[in-house]
Amino acid sequence: MPTAEIITIGTELMLGDILDTNAPYIARKLREAGVDVQRTWSIGDFTDEIANAIREATQRADIILTTGGLGPTVDDPTREAVARAFGVPTEYREELWQQVVDRFVFFDRYPTENNRKQAYVPRGAVAIENPVGTAPAFLMEFGRAEGGKGVVIALPGVPREMEHLLENEVLPDLHHRFALDRVTVVRVLHTAGVGESQIDEKVGDLEAMKNPIVGLAAHAGQVDVRIAATAQSETQARQLIAPVEAEVRERLGNWIYGADHETLEDIALHLLKSKDWHLTAVEGGLEGKLLRRFATQNGVFLSGEVHPSPFTSLETLHQATSFYRQTRQAEVGLGVSLQAGQEKRDIFLVLITPVGEKTLRVPFGGPPQLAARRAVNLGIDLLRKIDR
Ligand code: AMP
Ligand code: MG
Repeated sequence: MPTAEIITIGTELMLGDILDTNAPYIARKLREAGVDVQRTWSIGDFTDEIANAIREATQRADIILTTGGLGPTVDDPTREAVARAFGVPTEYREELWQQVVDRFVFFDRYPTENNRKQAYVPRGAVAIENPVGTAPAFLMEFGRAEGGKGVVIALPGVPREMEHLLENEVLPDLHHRFALDRVTVVRVLHTAGVGESQIDEKVGDLEAMKNPIVGLAAHAGQVDVRIAATAQSETQARQLIAPVEAEVRERLGNWIYGADHETLEDIALHLLKSKDWHLTAVEGGLEGKLLRRFATQNGVFLSGEVHPSPFTSLETLHQATSFYRQTRQAEVGLGVSLQAGQEKRDIFLVLITPVGEKTLRVPFGGPPQLAARRAVNLGIDLLRKIDR
């Protein structure tokens, strides 16, 4: 399996102004194509730093993909950096200039003399035409110390342009160049209402496996178990995953609420729908975060109440939930309130259904910024467990 490193370039990424979405996007696409991404890094618009990074990456990886720094301005350093990494000059290509001019004409604009910079590529590079933007991308082969050839590919930073070129030019090229014949399939099992360490206790031994690889990712009130397998076809990868998934399900039982794209609210509201029950919800101190989770679900969720401040007690939350359940004529009433204490927080939960009631007070000792998410997830998890 060829290895890759991704280098995203741009000072705006260093300043925290722009979230780096290119690296995870490329990582996902390469993974699906059977490329082993081993490192992603971000660097500001500094030619020498980028040149060093590229030179270093060529010692380790078969594929180095950069994004950004291909614009027409002085601070767009990638062309020069790649040239420097390989000790070659950049050179002007008339046909690239024609492409730039054509793109501008297409957009009903005129290129400036600055744009001429975009017609330069490192000597020896192969230009990749960019039909969705003005900056041509390019590709540069290099000899690997251990034999064989590697490739540096410089793509534009604008996500839409990068995605287009990756999909239509780069991935087909990599398939051909590296005879890619492996795919990695990832299966994600979602759990709720249980902590990461409890899950780790149950499945920790599986995390030592090499293929599939089992790993955990914790979010507030939800933990994901990720099972990733690499094989020669998707079918084979899924066959590797299946017994491990069965084992994880066996061990974690009802903590698991769904897989892959399923959300906790999808599962919970689907359950209510199967009973032909409707839902109303009351939230306190959660800034609408609970009701928003039900916003796209139609039919089951009737409407709800957002109280700006927390309810003063479990009893008042219960009264409000009961009141709205009656006035909205919903079978199910859910109440969630987050008590914002200085030191420790309490989460109040109320669930009223045609067959019974639950009231819970759950202390929350984690980071304050995660408290609301945790409260909301616990509330929706109560709905999921409505039969128990
Ligand atoms: P550039 O190709 O460096 O001129 O980048 C053009 C624009 O693309 C930047 O101003 C950002 O808005 C966006 N961009 C660049 N790099 C990234 C990245 N890694 N993730 C998301 N957006 C990016
Ligand atoms: Mg830039």
